[in-house]
Amino acid sequence: MIGNYVGALKNWVELQASHESFFLLADLHAITVPQDPADLQRRSLEFVALFLACGVDAERSTIFLQSHVPAHTQLSWVLNCVVPMGELQRMTQFKDKAGRSATNLHVGLFDYPVLMAADILLYCADLVPVGDDQKQHMEFTRHVARKFNGLYGEVFKIPEVFTPRTGARLMGLQTPSVKMSKSDRNEDNYIALLDRPEVVRRKIKTAVTDSGSEIRCDAAKPGISNLITLYAAVSGESAESIQNRYAGKGYAEFKRNLAELITDFLSPIQARYASIAADPAMLAGVLHRGARNADERSEATLSRVYRAVGFIPGERDQRRRVGGRRSSSERQLDTALPAASRAFHERRSIMETKETKDVTAAEAAEADAAAECMTDCCTCCCCETEEECSMEE
Ligand code: AMP
Repeated sequence: MIGNYVGALKNWVELQASHESFFLLADLHAITVPQDPADLQRRSLEFVALFLACGVDAERSTIFLQSHVPAHTQLSWVLNCVVPMGELQRMTQFKDKAGRSATNLHVGLFDYPVLMAADILLYCADLVPVGDDQKQHMEFTRHVARKFNGLYGEVFKIPEVFTPRTGARLMGLQTPSVKMSKSDRNEDNYIALLDRPEVVRRKIKTAVTDSGSEIRCDAAKPGISNLITLYAAVSGESAESIQNRYAGKGYAEFKRNLAELITDFLSPIQARYASIAADPAMLAGVLHRGARNADERSEATLSRVYRAVGFIPGERDQRRRVGGRRSSSERQLDTALPAASRAFHERRSIMETKETKDVTAAEAAEADAAAECMTDCCTCCCCETEEECSMEE
């Protein structure tokens, strides 16, 4: 949907000109909420075709399905063993989703940020282009990487988050207080990239606006503010210039023009999508090449992780070390391993009393709060209150 485009995909396309890029379709993450298998398969291919239609270039960048590259789940297991439960319990996205469905909560949903950290750290990423809603998971990823490095030596690069200046968080068209989301049950809350022009026009026409008629960004006018942001993100024009241009004009004209802007923007994407979707062999080839490349790169990092934690190298490790293509920063990291036993115990004892020194003051305060929660709280993960819970502290 259009929020994913302006929040993330647009930056993917721009960054691939200056950066070696890895883009995955997060199908392992997708099953953290129930999925119809046939639907998951259809939508996974649809999304990859949309990546290409939006301008992600398979010749330049590596595009793959997360489930095709085993290192993601392998690394997430290792990271699970350094992440305290309390840190995951504080994740806003988990609390939101858990709040909406208190029953049938799965461990996968709880563990989602750890798999995301693995997705990122495996590729020694410099930048991670995401929307605003992923900032907390990104901070978590940086924190996990530092923590692991603090324990085992400099294995991971610390990635930076990269969010757009405009449109980092588009809100729902019908409920501007809630983030626009492709899994929203009310399809009128978002514009899908494959929406036909008449559907776009209807959705924009019926989008919630606020009392008054001024086209102005204002916290008290979340509906029209969101539409101005959408206009700015799609057109590239600043919100200020849009407000000036529409001074004295009404909502109806603004909405009509916004709908046309969006349909003009979507039309070439939809045409490219149609020709890509008509060539499943090409799409399969992209995913096959992508998985091979991602596999090679991620295995090199996983191999370093395994050696750092003390796993005995197996036959696959030997092959990886001979054949794996590694960047200079990866080769540099290699030389620091493995951690000497005494140094490791010293580091772990420092960490057990407090977080690593390179964790910022704010992160340390948050981590301390989480640690406190883990010791003071008498509830287990299934019970909301202490009264309900039979777990001993
Ligand atoms: P998801 O839809 O959760 O799979 O997110 C895919 C990417 O789109 C992530 O980088 C999100 O941060 C971004 N994204 C999702 N929803 C929005 C939104 N409403 N506004 C801006 N970016 C978004």
